[in-house]
Amino acid sequence: MLNIDLRKIYRFSPLVPAPAPDKLPTGAMYYYECMECQSVVSSVPHTPSKCACGNLSGAGGKLDVKDASRLKVMTGKLK
Ligand SMILES: [Zn+2]
Repeated sequence: MLNIDLRKIYRFSPLVPAPAPDKLPTGAMYYYECMECQSVVSSVPHTPSKCACGNLSGAGGKLDVKDASRLKVMTGKLK
């Protein structure tokens, strides 16, 4: 799988206050950083996306989260 390092393209800022794990916001501006492997994945991945440890994976605009307490929600802006 092709994994692009989104940090090279976007400037990420953590959402403050951090949203509850059962109320994660989704949308084009939201990205999730996996706290296990530090990968960044879009909350609405249009191409197949997966973090290195498999906690976050998705495609077709839908992200599957295995453990929502082990991620950080961030907003991303193009650099
Ligand atoms: Zn991970």
